[in-house]
Amino acid sequence: MRQGENSMVRHTGLTNLELAENPTWVIALTFSECPFCGFLSGEPELDGLSVPCPKCNRSGSSREAFPDLSCIRWLEMIGDAYVRANTRTGEKQAELVEIIRSDVKRDIEPSRVAAAASDVRRFLRKSRRSETDYDRMLSALQTNLSLDRREDAARVHSLLVRYFDTVNEHTNVVVLTGSLFERLFHNLLVQLLARRGMTDSEARKTVGKRRRREDSQELFWIATGTRLQKAVGEFGVPTIYEDCQSIADRRNKFLHITPGAISAEMAERAFDIAKNAFDLFAFLQNKYCVAKIPGASA
Ligand SMILES: [Zn+2]
Repeated sequence: MRQGENSMVRHTGLTNLELAENPTWVIALTFSECPFCGFLSGEPELDGLSVPCPKCNRSGSSREAFPDLSCIRWLEMIGDAYVRANTRTGEKQAELVEIIRSDVKRDIEPSRVAAAASDVRRFLRKSRRSETDYDRMLSALQTNLSLDRREDAARVHSLLVRYFDTVNEHTNVVVLTGSLFERLFHNLLVQLLARRGMTDSEARKTVGKRRRREDSQELFWIATGTRLQKAVGEFGVPTIYEDCQSIADRRNKFLHITPGAISAEMAERAFDIAKNAFDLFAFLQNKYCVAKIPGASA
Protein backbone atom coordinates (compact mmCIF):
# COMPACT_ATOMS: atom_id res chain seq x y z
CA MET A 1 0.00 0.00 0.00
CA ARG A 2 2.59 2.50 1.08
CA GLN A 3 4.88 1.45 -1.76
CA GLY A 4 2.16 2.28 -4.27
CA GLU A 5 1.53 5.63 -2.66
CA ASN A 6 5.22 6.38 -2.68
CA SER A 7 5.61 5.77 -6.35
CA MET A 8 2.33 7.54 -7.04
CA VAL A 9 3.48 10.72 -5.34
CA ARG A 10 7.03 10.62 -6.55
CA HIS A 11 6.68 9.43 -10.11
CA THR A 12 3.26 10.02 -11.62
CA GLY A 13 1.93 13.10 -13.31
CA LEU A 14 -0.58 14.19 -10.69
CA THR A 15 -1.43 17.87 -10.70
CA ASN A 16 -0.45 19.82 -7.60
CA LEU A 17 -4.10 19.98 -6.58
CA GLU A 18 -4.64 16.21 -6.98
CA LEU A 19 -1.52 15.63 -4.91
CA ALA A 20 -2.49 18.06 -2.13
CA GLU A 21 -6.01 16.61 -1.95
CA ASN A 22 -4.66 13.10 -1.35
CA PRO A 23 -4.92 12.44 2.41
CA THR A 24 -1.72 10.36 2.58
CA TRP A 25 0.58 12.24 0.23
CA VAL A 26 2.78 13.69 3.00
CA ILE A 27 3.35 10.36 4.77
CA ALA A 28 4.11 8.76 1.42
CA LEU A 29 6.98 11.24 1.02
CA THR A 30 8.73 10.38 4.29
CA PHE A 31 11.88 8.29 4.67
CA SER A 32 13.26 5.93 7.29
CA GLU A 33 16.72 6.54 8.70
CA CYS A 34 19.29 3.82 9.40
CA PRO A 35 20.33 4.14 13.09
CA PHE A 36 23.87 2.96 12.27
CA CYS A 37 24.96 5.04 9.27
CA GLY A 38 22.17 7.62 8.88
CA PHE A 39 21.20 6.51 5.37
CA LEU A 40 17.67 7.56 4.42
CA SER A 41 15.53 5.18 2.43
CA GLY A 42 12.15 5.84 0.85
CA GLU A 43 11.53 2.11 0.40
CA PRO A 44 8.76 1.02 2.77
CA GLU A 45 10.03 -2.56 3.23
CA LEU A 46 12.97 -1.12 5.19
CA ASP A 47 10.57 -0.49 8.06
CA GLY A 48 11.13 -4.14 9.04
CA LEU A 49 13.70 -4.78 11.80
CA SER A 50 15.33 -7.71 10.00
CA VAL A 51 15.82 -5.95 6.66
CA PRO A 52 19.45 -4.83 6.23
CA CYS A 53 20.26 -1.20 5.40
CA PRO A 54 21.16 -0.94 1.67
CA LYS A 55 24.13 1.26 2.57
CA CYS A 56 25.79 -0.41 5.60
CA ASN A 57 24.10 -3.84 5.57
CA ARG A 58 23.24 -3.69 9.26
CA SER A 59 19.85 -4.59 10.66
CA GLY A 60 18.10 -5.29 13.96
CA SER A 61 17.41 -1.81 15.27
CA SER A 62 14.33 0.30 14.62
CA ARG A 63 14.56 3.15 12.16
CA GLU A 64 13.60 6.74 12.78
CA ALA A 65 11.25 8.60 10.47
CA PHE A 66 12.65 11.45 8.37
CA PRO A 67 12.03 14.34 8.49
CA ASP A 68 10.94 15.30 12.02
CA LEU A 69 7.30 15.75 13.00
CA SER A 70 7.35 19.55 12.67
CA CYS A 71 8.34 19.28 9.01
CA ILE A 72 5.67 16.66 8.37
CA ARG A 73 3.09 18.89 10.03
CA TRP A 74 4.23 21.90 8.01
CA LEU A 75 3.96 20.06 4.72
CA GLU A 76 0.46 18.90 5.67
CA MET A 77 -0.48 22.53 6.43
CA ILE A 78 0.99 23.65 3.10
CA GLY A 79 -1.16 21.05 1.32
CA ASP A 80 -4.28 22.18 3.23
CA ALA A 81 -3.62 25.84 2.48
CA TYR A 82 -3.00 25.03 -1.18
CA VAL A 83 -6.32 23.16 -1.49
CA ARG A 84 -8.21 25.95 0.29
CA ALA A 85 -6.52 28.60 -1.89
CA ASN A 86 -7.79 26.78 -4.98
CA THR A 87 -11.29 26.41 -3.57
CA ARG A 88 -11.47 30.04 -2.54
CA THR A 89 -10.17 31.23 -5.93
CA GLY A 90 -12.81 29.09 -7.64
CA GLU A 91 -15.51 30.63 -5.44
CA LYS A 92 -14.32 34.15 -6.20
CA GLN A 93 -14.37 33.46 -9.93
CA ALA A 94 -17.87 31.98 -9.66
CA GLU A 95 -19.07 35.05 -7.72
CA LEU A 96 -17.74 37.34 -10.44
CA VAL A 97 -19.28 35.21 -13.19
CA GLU A 98 -22.61 35.50 -11.37
CA ILE A 99 -22.39 39.30 -11.12
CA ILE A 100 -21.51 39.56 -14.81
CA ARG A 101 -24.41 37.27 -15.67
CA SER A 102 -26.88 39.38 -13.72
CA ASP A 103 -25.47 42.74 -14.85
CA VAL A 104 -24.89 42.20 -18.56
CA LYS A 105 -26.81 38.97 -19.21
CA ARG A 106 -23.81 37.10 -20.49
CA ASP A 107 -22.49 33.66 -19.47
CA ILE A 108 -18.72 33.60 -19.28
CA GLU A 109 -16.46 30.67 -18.34
CA PRO A 110 -14.81 31.25 -14.93
CA SER A 111 -11.35 30.64 -16.39
CA ARG A 112 -11.97 33.30 -19.04
CA VAL A 113 -12.89 35.77 -16.31
CA ALA A 114 -9.55 35.19 -14.60
CA ALA A 115 -7.67 35.53 -17.89
CA ALA A 116 -9.57 38.73 -18.76
CA ALA A 117 -8.77 40.19 -15.33
CA SER A 118 -5.08 39.55 -15.79
CA ASP A 119 -5.26 41.04 -19.33
CA VAL A 120 -6.85 44.18 -17.89
CA ARG A 121 -4.16 44.51 -15.23
CA ARG A 122 -1.37 43.96 -17.76
CA PHE A 123 -2.94 46.59 -19.99
CA LEU A 124 -3.21 49.05 -17.11
CA ARG A 125 0.45 48.56 -16.21
CA LYS A 126 1.54 49.39 -19.74
CA SER A 127 -1.03 52.03 -20.64
CA ARG A 128 -0.62 55.79 -20.33
CA ARG A 129 -4.15 55.95 -18.95
CA SER A 130 -5.33 58.00 -21.90
CA GLU A 131 -8.85 58.08 -23.35
CA THR A 132 -7.57 56.20 -26.43
CA ASP A 133 -6.04 53.43 -24.33
CA TYR A 134 -9.24 53.03 -22.36
CA ASP A 135 -11.22 52.84 -25.62
CA ARG A 136 -8.92 50.19 -27.02
CA MET A 137 -9.22 48.12 -23.87
CA LEU A 138 -13.02 48.30 -23.93
CA SER A 139 -13.05 47.22 -27.59
CA ALA A 140 -10.80 44.26 -26.80
CA LEU A 141 -13.01 43.26 -23.87
CA GLN A 142 -16.17 43.59 -25.91
CA THR A 143 -14.75 41.31 -28.61
CA ASN A 144 -13.07 38.76 -26.30
CA LEU A 145 -16.11 38.28 -24.10
CA SER A 146 -18.68 38.69 -26.91
CA LEU A 147 -20.47 41.55 -25.17
CA ASP A 148 -23.30 43.29 -27.05
CA ARG A 149 -22.82 46.88 -25.96
CA ARG A 150 -20.06 49.29 -25.10
CA GLU A 151 -21.68 50.01 -21.72
CA ASP A 152 -21.50 46.29 -20.92
CA ALA A 153 -17.77 46.28 -21.62
CA ALA A 154 -17.36 49.32 -19.35
CA ARG A 155 -19.30 47.60 -16.56
CA VAL A 156 -17.29 44.35 -16.89
CA HIS A 157 -14.07 46.37 -17.01
CA SER A 158 -14.87 48.05 -13.70
CA LEU A 159 -15.55 44.62 -12.14
CA LEU A 160 -12.35 43.08 -13.53
CA VAL A 161 -10.15 45.92 -12.28
CA ARG A 162 -11.15 45.06 -8.74
CA TYR A 163 -10.80 41.30 -9.16
CA PHE A 164 -7.74 39.41 -7.88
CA ASP A 165 -7.03 35.68 -8.06
CA THR A 166 -4.87 35.86 -4.96
CA VAL A 167 -6.51 34.96 -1.64
CA ASN A 168 -5.14 34.86 1.92
CA GLU A 169 -4.52 31.11 1.73
CA HIS A 170 -1.90 31.68 -0.99
CA THR A 171 0.06 33.63 1.58
CA ASN A 172 -0.02 30.68 3.95
CA VAL A 173 1.39 28.38 1.26
CA VAL A 174 4.37 30.69 0.74
CA VAL A 175 5.04 31.53 4.39
CA LEU A 176 4.83 27.90 5.52
CA THR A 177 7.03 26.73 2.64
CA GLY A 178 9.67 29.25 3.74
CA SER A 179 9.48 27.87 7.29
CA LEU A 180 9.64 24.25 6.10
CA PHE A 181 12.82 24.82 4.11
CA GLU A 182 14.43 26.77 6.92
CA ARG A 183 13.81 23.95 9.37
CA LEU A 184 14.91 21.18 7.00
CA PHE A 185 18.12 23.10 6.32
CA HIS A 186 18.67 23.72 10.03
CA ASN A 187 18.24 19.98 10.74
CA LEU A 188 20.64 19.09 7.92
CA LEU A 189 23.32 21.40 9.32
CA VAL A 190 22.95 19.86 12.79
CA GLN A 191 23.39 16.39 11.24
CA LEU A 192 26.41 17.54 9.26
CA LEU A 193 28.16 18.90 12.33
CA ALA A 194 27.21 15.89 14.45
CA ARG A 195 28.66 13.55 11.82
CA ARG A 196 31.86 15.56 11.99
CA GLY A 197 32.34 15.00 15.71
CA MET A 198 30.21 17.56 17.55
CA THR A 199 27.75 16.45 20.20
CA ASP A 200 24.13 17.00 19.30
CA SER A 201 23.79 19.96 21.67
CA GLU A 202 27.01 21.60 20.43
CA ALA A 203 25.78 21.19 16.87
CA ARG A 204 22.38 22.70 17.69
CA LYS A 205 24.00 25.64 19.47
CA THR A 206 26.40 26.29 16.58
CA VAL A 207 23.61 26.16 13.99
CA GLY A 208 21.30 28.25 16.23
CA LYS A 209 23.87 31.06 16.30
CA ARG A 210 23.95 31.24 12.50
CA ARG A 211 20.34 31.86 11.63
CA ARG A 212 20.99 34.43 8.90
CA ARG A 213 20.79 32.86 5.47
CA GLU A 214 24.33 33.79 4.39
CA ASP A 215 25.74 32.55 7.69
CA SER A 216 24.01 29.19 7.57
CA GLN A 217 24.96 28.71 3.92
CA GLU A 218 28.55 29.43 4.85
CA LEU A 219 28.33 26.81 7.58
CA PHE A 220 27.22 24.27 4.96
CA TRP A 221 30.22 25.21 2.84
CA ILE A 222 32.63 24.92 5.76
CA ALA A 223 31.22 21.51 6.73
CA THR A 224 31.07 20.00 3.24
CA GLY A 225 33.53 21.93 1.07
CA THR A 226 30.68 22.45 -1.41
CA ARG A 227 28.55 25.52 -2.03
CA LEU A 228 24.90 24.95 -1.19
CA GLN A 229 23.82 26.15 -4.64
CA LYS A 230 25.99 23.49 -6.29
CA ALA A 231 24.86 20.75 -3.89
CA VAL A 232 21.17 21.57 -4.46
CA GLY A 233 21.78 21.84 -8.21
CA GLU A 234 22.91 18.21 -8.24
CA PHE A 235 19.49 17.13 -6.96
CA GLY A 236 18.29 17.59 -10.54
CA VAL A 237 15.14 19.72 -10.22
CA PRO A 238 15.88 22.82 -12.33
CA THR A 239 15.68 26.22 -10.58
CA ILE A 240 14.80 24.71 -7.20
CA TYR A 241 17.64 26.58 -5.50
CA GLU A 242 16.64 29.93 -7.02
CA ASP A 243 12.97 29.29 -6.22
CA CYS A 244 13.84 28.52 -2.58
CA GLN A 245 15.71 31.80 -2.34
CA SER A 246 12.89 33.80 -3.87
CA ILE A 247 10.28 32.12 -1.64
CA ALA A 248 12.40 33.02 1.39
CA ASP A 249 12.65 36.63 0.14
CA ARG A 250 8.89 36.89 -0.45
CA ARG A 251 8.15 35.44 2.94
CA ASN A 252 10.44 37.97 4.63
CA LYS A 253 8.99 40.79 2.57
CA PHE A 254 5.49 39.71 3.58
CA LEU A 255 6.38 39.38 7.27
CA HIS A 256 8.39 42.58 7.56
CA ILE A 257 7.35 44.96 4.81
CA THR A 258 4.12 44.44 2.87
CA PRO A 259 1.17 42.04 2.97
CA GLY A 260 0.84 42.42 -0.81
CA ALA A 261 4.15 40.67 -1.52
CA ILE A 262 2.62 37.31 -2.29
CA SER A 263 0.69 36.32 -5.40
CA ALA A 264 -1.19 33.21 -6.52
CA GLU A 265 1.64 32.53 -8.96
CA MET A 266 4.20 32.68 -6.14
CA ALA A 267 2.12 30.20 -4.12
CA GLU A 268 2.13 27.83 -7.10
CA ARG A 269 5.92 27.99 -7.23
CA ALA A 270 6.09 27.47 -3.47
CA PHE A 271 3.99 24.32 -3.70
CA ASP A 272 6.15 23.10 -6.58
CA ILE A 273 9.22 23.18 -4.37
CA ALA A 274 7.45 22.14 -1.14
CA LYS A 275 6.42 18.82 -2.68
CA ASN A 276 10.09 18.12 -3.46
CA ALA A 277 11.42 19.30 -0.09
CA PHE A 278 11.69 15.92 1.70
CA ASP A 279 13.32 14.28 -1.33
CA LEU A 280 15.79 17.13 -1.69
CA PHE A 281 16.92 17.07 1.94
CA ALA A 282 17.09 13.26 1.99
CA PHE A 283 19.33 13.51 -1.07
CA LEU A 284 21.58 16.03 0.71
CA GLN A 285 21.68 14.00 3.91
CA ASN A 286 22.54 10.80 2.03
CA LYS A 287 25.25 12.58 0.10
CA TYR A 288 26.90 14.54 2.90
CA CYS A 289 25.94 12.98 6.24
CA VAL A 290 25.99 9.20 5.88
CA ALA A 291 28.75 7.70 8.05
CA LYS A 292 31.37 5.54 6.40
CA ILE A 293 31.25 2.24 8.23
CA PRO A 294 34.18 -0.16 7.69
CA GLY A 295 33.21 -3.24 5.70
CA ALA A 296 29.98 -1.67 4.41
CA SER A 297 29.06 -1.66 0.75
CA ALA A 298 29.81 1.59 -1.09
ZN1 LIG B 1 22.96 1.98 7.36
